[in-house]
Amino acid sequence: MEHVSARQHVIDMCRTMLERGYLKATEGNVSVRVPGQRLYAVTPSNYSYDRMRVEDVCIVDFDGEHLPDADRPGSMLAPSIECGMHATIYRARPDVHAIVHTHQPFASALAVLRRPIPALTDEQVRFLGREVAVIDYAPSGTGILARNVQKKITSGDNAFILANHGIVAVGTDPERAVFNMALLEKVSIAYLMALATESGRVYTIPTAIREIAFAKLRSDEKRIAAQITRSLPAAPPSDAVPLPSADAAAAAVAADRTASAGAGLPRAAEPTEAPGAESARLGYAISTYPDVDDTMARLRALVDQPVRGLRQDALNDVLEWFDTKCQGSKQLTERAKSRIPGGVQHNLAFNHPFPLAIDRADGAHLTDRDGNVYIDFLQAGGPTLLGSNYGPVNDKVAEVVRESGPVTGLFHEYELKLAESIHRYLPHVEMYRSLGSGTEAVMAAVRAARAHTGHSVVIKVGGAYHGWSDTLVYGLRVPGTFRMNAKGIPFGATSATREAFPHDLGALRRKLIENRLRGGTAAVVLEPLGPESGTRPAPEDFNARVRELCDEFGALLVFDEVVTGFRVGMGGAAGYFGVTPDLTVLGKAVSGGYPMAGGVGGREDVMAVFGSGLDGKSGAHVQVGGTLSANPLSCAAGYFAIEEMARTNAPVVAGRAGDRLAAGLQRLVAKHALPYVVYNQGSIVHLECSGVMLLDMHNPVKLFKENKPRKQLMEQMGAAYTAAGIITLAGSRLYTSMADTDAVIDDALERFDRVFSMVDGV
Ligand code: PLP
Repeated sequence: MEHVSARQHVIDMCRTMLERGYLKATEGNVSVRVPGQRLYAVTPSNYSYDRMRVEDVCIVDFDGEHLPDADRPGSMLAPSIECGMHATIYRARPDVHAIVHTHQPFASALAVLRRPIPALTDEQVRFLGREVAVIDYAPSGTGILARNVQKKITSGDNAFILANHGIVAVGTDPERAVFNMALLEKVSIAYLMALATESGRVYTIPTAIREIAFAKLRSDEKRIAAQITRSLPAAPPSDAVPLPSADAAAAAVAADRTASAGAGLPRAAEPTEAPGAESARLGYAISTYPDVDDTMARLRALVDQPVRGLRQDALNDVLEWFDTKCQGSKQLTERAKSRIPGGVQHNLAFNHPFPLAIDRADGAHLTDRDGNVYIDFLQAGGPTLLGSNYGPVNDKVAEVVRESGPVTGLFHEYELKLAESIHRYLPHVEMYRSLGSGTEAVMAAVRAARAHTGHSVVIKVGGAYHGWSDTLVYGLRVPGTFRMNAKGIPFGATSATREAFPHDLGALRRKLIENRLRGGTAAVVLEPLGPESGTRPAPEDFNARVRELCDEFGALLVFDEVVTGFRVGMGGAAGYFGVTPDLTVLGKAVSGGYPMAGGVGGREDVMAVFGSGLDGKSGAHVQVGGTLSANPLSCAAGYFAIEEMARTNAPVVAGRAGDRLAAGLQRLVAKHALPYVVYNQGSIVHLECSGVMLLDMHNPVKLFKENKPRKQLMEQMGAAYTAAGIITLAGSRLYTSMADTDAVIDDALERFDRVFSMVDGV
């Protein structure tokens, strides 16, 4: 049976009204819009309310046609004879989600008097409208009655008297429709009693007050209507098609391994294939690249609509959950505020309403200080592709540490092994320099590009995060904001940085032309999936077009693969897109979740800038380094993690988990008719509920007006997911790992279902 939740709302409304005496036996009728579709659920004709079951409620389309259930053809009751009136209202008023038609006694008295109710109280106008008008008489169930209703309903009022018949009340949700019906009865009693007094004189509220109250009502209605009219209907994968399976992918890898072992071909410690061949054979995490035009259209529609977050009661429950269940975290992180600026050391930990203190991590799960267990879709911000706290790598690292300690300052074999391993999977990384973090590696890449080309300007894609170096804290998060976040950074440090709007090749070309006149561009730096790990997904051919532009203008192409390196596949995003950058920045997964996660690699002639002069003899040396860079611990961790990722094909298994999660979320979003946008690029899943990341300087007024409420919504949804046992990255991004079995994803989907059912208007 379909549309159960709309049907259940009808039943609940009828029960409430029966209990309160507004409905009797079989009179009147009640309907609820099926979210996101041109359908509504309505009471059956001439059927007693106290016997009514969910399956008795009828589904009718906006043309008034009754749609029988596919699984129970012929067993359906006929819908109410007032279907035409209900359909007319839903068509004319997108803000209306529920309709009540009753024959309640006091309002019915006014119906026979054919007496409209003027604005008697502020409350009446705030909820029912300027006046309760009388709709001209027409016999029940006729098209004439529906047409008479149509003439009045567009006024924006929410209650009407049907001449010599009864009333109709509408609302933005089922509770509101019932409330409006009851309010009408209360006002009708007052009005009738006032009319019955000797003077018969009735005072209304001042016109100015009436207009203010009505303006508030209209603004609410327009907000809700915009959610309907500006949304794009979701096109989720059909329920009949099974969700993609990470278990199946993992089983295929295991079978492959067994077959090769059986054939006497254990995985070679030394590569037997040409560099890059194994990556190509292992495949990529992205099974189908997202339809970028469609995704962007949905994201724009989301940003066009008013925000849609949790109901206030649900939000209160979420906050109460944190207060009662996370006291240990709360106390610890409160204490931290006096010794750690802002109370946390990393922005990923800064979550609403307060940070959680994590005690244990294991595979797909995290346990906090209070013993609450969460499904972990943060995965430390991306590095732990094998799952958190992965035992086999830990064991190898522990062996190395036992032997050499974490650092000696002298050469260790694992430095070489790591560089060789990276070259094995990313053949364009001919040489590799290990550094301390993604930020450092980006700094080194920029310096190398400038030294190699002799040009100074670097161009980035607006909105992208490339770490916090002086040069690249520019156009951060919000495209077109230049130095807005560059507090503490002198102008000179960003004077040779430019940003181009995401995926605007014309704008990029113009910048390259401008720079040519001023001495040339050293590099174009970009995240191959799009800024902020594909928050604005790059068109599939974008990287190839940028490569062409770089070649045309003599600029180096730098891929920031801090997130995508190994996550998109052992060949990285470069392998996936088939585009070869000159330099590649790695981070996160390059040390498997261990510290000192960063390095830059690429063309031998460009990378030579880091080597020349190191011996104090041959030429100028481009200065990069770090006491702890390339320590045995980090290099061994990186080497073993990378080899283990290849052995288990973790990128592809995690990618299928991402596919399962995204497809499941798309179904849930459609089920609850939410405007949220879900898509994934393999194991990077985007769940946009507010679209805050899509605001930019193309529309600065909207940006400054809506940035805060949209950010707040994202944080609140993040908190709601956490309270439901799911950790996300800031409430909008989810990284999957090899530990995310189908059971883990399905568990998460059930939890998301619960959260989505608490959203306003569901
Ligand atoms: N580049 C990208 C694309 C990133 O996502 C990040 C970090 O999140 C960085 C660079 C900076 O890396 P790190 O935090 O290791 O300095």
